[in-house]
Amino acid sequence: EGDIQNIRPEYIESFQFQDKMMLSTWIVVRIDGCHFHRFSDAHEFKKPNDEQALNLMNSCAVALLEEFEDIVFAYGVSDEFSFVLKKDSKLYERHASGIVSTMVSFFSSMYISKWTGFILQQELKYPPSFDGRAVCYPSSEILRDYLSWRQVDCHINNQYNTCFWTLVKSGKERREAQSCLKGTQTQEKNDLLVEKGIDYTAEPDIFRLGSCIFRDMENKALLEVNCAEDSRKRIVIEHCNIIDNNFWEAHPWILG
Ligand code: ATP
Ligand code: ATP
Ligand code: MG
Ligand code: MG
Ligand code: MG
Ligand code: MG
Ligand code: MG
Repeated sequence: EGDIQNIRPEYIESFQFQDKMMLSTWIVVRIDGCHFHRFSDAHEFKKPNDEQALNLMNSCAVALLEEFEDIVFAYGVSDEFSFVLKKDSKLYERHASGIVSTMVSFFSSMYISKWTGFILQQELKYPPSFDGRAVCYPSSEILRDYLSWRQVDCHINNQYNTCFWTLVKSGKERREAQSCLKGTQTQEKNDLLVEKGIDYTAEPDIFRLGSCIFRDMENKALLEVNCAEDSRKRIVIEHCNIIDNNFWEAHPWILG
């Protein structure tokens, strides 16, 4: 009684909850910057889109693909990134906590260590953090629906922000600009931009479409014969439409 020697480890461990992700499903880890509204203000990010900050996010995501071979695809926008792990990944025996915590901490470390190389005119005022979650998607169709949802979100937010900052830069108070845009549809936002002389379709792809990161392989056979060193060199960043079939048909090895 009260003897620490008598505590069975199985008893203590039985309090841990089972967080293994379902087998043979795509695991998506989405990370998102904590309070980046404030962080981007404190570091004077260009509004609505600071390209250097996006390039820093992308570079951290590339580092993640280098570190975790099981990541087959990543999609990023603003302060978030989604990482897709291959269906048969055995990373941390598929324990969600192990997968999410290492990926999010690796990303945060990278963000801080790469900061000075990307954000030239601003010193890092305080260390940023990211949150993360893991979700299983049981089929490539549902996984594609997930990715389409993120890209649609990118478009909606970017169109809104482009309008908002156009109004603010033309002299409106932030609150005024906000109420101007309240309840407006896509067409009205397009009209507003045209009125201000902005062609939304001419905005850079990285802003409108977000960033896709993956290993650029001719085919799956090549991927298997290549050594790790080679596969690292093949990591590419592209800004493309991932809602259409075209992208997935042109890169069949990603979800293959
Ligand atoms: P939370 O902690 O809940 O995620 P948040 O402040 O990070 O809160 P988000 O919805 O994640 O809110 O939005 C991120 C915000 O960070 C954007 O609204 C934008 O203000 C800012 N931001 C992120 N990346 C950039 C960028 N590249 N250029 C300009 N602003 C950016
Ligand atoms: P994993 O990635 O699975 O956690 P690990 O190598 O980190 O693998 P742990 O079981 O977490 O293994 O053990 C951490 C190891 O790190 C210790 O065995 C020890 O060698 C080293 N270590 C951690 N903190 C200290 C410390 N303060 N002083 C000396 N060594 C330390
Ligand atoms: Mg968040
Ligand atoms: Mg955020
Ligand atoms: Mg966000
Ligand atoms: Mg450990
Ligand atoms: Mg350890």
